[in-house]
Amino acid sequence: MRVAFLGPPGAGKGTQARELAREWGVPHVATGDLLREALAAATPLGLEAKRYMDQGALVPDEVIIGATAERLREADAARGFILDGFPRTVAQAEALARLLAEQGQKLDAVIFFEVFEPELLRRLTGRRVCRGCGATFHVTFAPPRSAGVCDRCGGELYQREDDSEATVLNRLQVFARQTAPLLDHYRRQRLLTTVRGEGSIESVRGEVREATGALQ
Ligand code: ADP
Ligand code: ADP
Ligand code: ZN
Repeated sequence: MRVAFLGPPGAGKGTQARELAREWGVPHVATGDLLREALAAATPLGLEAKRYMDQGALVPDEVIIGATAERLREADAARGFILDGFPRTVAQAEALARLLAEQGQKLDAVIFFEVFEPELLRRLTGRRVCRGCGATFHVTFAPPRSAGVCDRCGGELYQREDDSEATVLNRLQVFARQTAPLLDHYRRQRLLTTVRGEGSIESVRGEVREATGALQ
């Protein structure tokens, strides 16, 4: 099961990937999380990535490709993975295909989460993330039992700096310009399935299960 979740910021990729990775017994490889962890640990990768992330721009291809390749070579990814937020450019998609081919593998499916801008804005501006375990909540759509506290680990919830409205608008433009061309790229390869991402968290999960049913 080697699957990539594709979609604009706020489409629900992380929310779905976290649960389904557990269900399928494969790692959830989220490049945004990987970069935020690197930043929290003040590694060279994290410090390099920060200036791009703060502006809502993409981290340069060679930087993110190297970091993702390293992660996918770890033992737990040998039996499969859910990629969340990678690839985001055609160059990244090509690098991923080469990397997998070296290991005699290929991507099985790409799931596109279709959500439109008004809903993306509502989701991103209300998103809260746990400092402890990275779980994602929403102040109205997926509130924690106790405000500001993670249901899973009791950690503190915070608002990502790049979820401010100005940065969000930039990220949506970056998606349209740099990532949306991947839709055609994967459509041509017959790997793309579009899921209507605007339903409830549960109904979207059902659609993703259905779209990947044959792979499990
Ligand atoms: P992405 O990883 O694609 O950027 P997230 O999974 O972080 O998106 O979701 C963005 C925000 O929207 C979060 O606050 C999350 O709780 C909320 N959310 C996710 N899926 C849904 C849904 N189906 N309906 C309503 N809110 C959702
Ligand atoms: P979201 O799903 O809300 O867009 P992510 O957590 O996936 O946010 O990504 C946050 C930021 O990390 C991006 O705006 C970008 O700066 C950087 N990033 C994550 N993945 C990639 C990638 N594949 N290529 C380039 N930059 C990335
Ligand atoms: Zn937590």
